[in-house]
Amino acid sequence: MKTVFVVGAGPAGFYAAQKIARASYPVVLFNRDIKPGGLAEYGIYPMKDKMKSGLRKQFGKVLDLPNVSYFGHLAVGAGRLLQIEELRQWNPAALVFAVGAQGTKKLGLPGEEARGVYSAKDFVYHYNQLPPFATQDFSTGKRVAIIGMGNVMVDIARWLLQDAPDRRSEEVTVIARRGPFEVKFDEKEFDHIEAHLDLRALQDELLRVKDRVAAAGQDITRVPETVFPLLAQPFREAAFPRLRFRFLSSPVEIHPGADGRIARLTVCENLLVAKNGGTAAKATDQATALDFDTLIFAIGDVADPTIGLPYGKDGYQTNPDTADPERAAYEVFDPQNGQVIPGNFVVGWARKASEGLVGMARLDAEKGAAHVLSYLESAAEKAAATPGEIQDLLARRGPELVTKQDLSCLGRAEELQARERGLNNFKFSDDPTMLAAIEEQKNRGGQLSAA
Ligand SMILES: Cc1cc2nc3c(=O)[nH]c(=O)nc-3n(C[C@H](O)[C@H](O)[C@H](O)COP(=O)(O)OP(=O)(O)OC[C@H]3O[C@@H](n4cnc5c(N)ncnc54)[C@H](O)[C@@H]3O)c2cc1C
Repeated sequence: MKTVFVVGAGPAGFYAAQKIARASYPVVLFNRDIKPGGLAEYGIYPMKDKMKSGLRKQFGKVLDLPNVSYFGHLAVGAGRLLQIEELRQWNPAALVFAVGAQGTKKLGLPGEEARGVYSAKDFVYHYNQLPPFATQDFSTGKRVAIIGMGNVMVDIARWLLQDAPDRRSEEVTVIARRGPFEVKFDEKEFDHIEAHLDLRALQDELLRVKDRVAAAGQDITRVPETVFPLLAQPFREAAFPRLRFRFLSSPVEIHPGADGRIARLTVCENLLVAKNGGTAAKATDQATALDFDTLIFAIGDVADPTIGLPYGKDGYQTNPDTADPERAAYEVFDPQNGQVIPGNFVVGWARKASEGLVGMARLDAEKGAAHVLSYLESAAEKAAATPGEIQDLLARRGPELVTKQDLSCLGRAEELQARERGLNNFKFSDDPTMLAAIEEQKNRGGQLSAA
């Protein structure tokens, strides 16, 4: 029997597992979080109900496959419950890493450790209720800066401007190192927050950077037709709280106040230069201090360096072989001995951090899984530890594992809570409560009662 272990049960883990399991190989999924889904559960905007429940259903169907097992609440990596080496000793025929991009991109700015400074991933984990972030302090103030101008920025601004139950924001400012033509968000996503756009402030900002964008061959008068169509329509006041942009600015220093919370941010002014058919920001020594009480970095993430896979400057090391680059790009490579680690693969955001939507993670995982399948054809038979044996071995170490049967119990407990509270969906926000809810459902024999 050739068993495949998949580490990570986000979209990439599920789509890889599905393809491998449908080819009749037993698959064991190991997941850090109790609940599966990764960013589909804990990153995608909470109000995108239809998309989230559609993905949950798809992942549920993978879990329903009889040859797929699930162990949640089980982080793999250095200093975690399970080391990669131990996984390998359980003799899987192949090991697929689909752990996403859990590392944080640090700019190394002075003052980065001030209170009120967050990474976007942690912030979205918080409002999507992923333990332990759900119960940690992610308080926001009146003047919030978001660094970066992609779709994640739009989600965070949307939360701060419209949906956060405890919102206090009066002004959200997007800070971008390049100019208005380099926005990275989708127009449809921006529609959600467009009503908050402070048009007067935007016009002033465009005037402020006009000459600098012209130096890179861009015409600022084209912004209304290409980037912010609202500017071409009859003027209207922005809805409160207001959304502003500050272009051609890079953060250089964070100044905490007496309470340890960010009070000001110094940004340097950038020039815009034409480069390789695109543009690049070039820092100047001109700096400006801006008042903010909250700062969120939405600049993408990196692969987690503590997992225990060989790590290079772009994340986990993959096979540099150019003879079959398509396949090589999914194979884990050990630069110390210059060899591929046989049967070890990486897929999804673990392979290319912060790249693309769920559809792209799916495509990547399925491509990776196809390479796993061809590897399995000629791989030696190995007597891998069975799910039962794995469960017994891990049970002795303490933390409670969550199996797919437990997930059904959790699903029932959540359904009950949602019903009691008149909500479409309910999620528990800490692990002990989730584990207790699973236990309670087990004790009830899984009966869904209104009590
Ligand atoms: C804020 C935000 C909003 C988004 N909104 C959308 C959207 O609206 N529509 C859309 O299509 N896409 C959206 N995306 C993109 C989408 O979430 C990703 O494309 C997709 O989730 C990547 O899948 P993945 O499985 O590679 O990684 P992830 O989803 O990050 O899954 C990684 C999995 O690995 C597990 N894991 C991590 N570390 C370990 C470990 N050490 N041991 C064991 N398990 C581990 C995690 O628990 C998780 O289950 C959004 C992304 C973000 C950040």
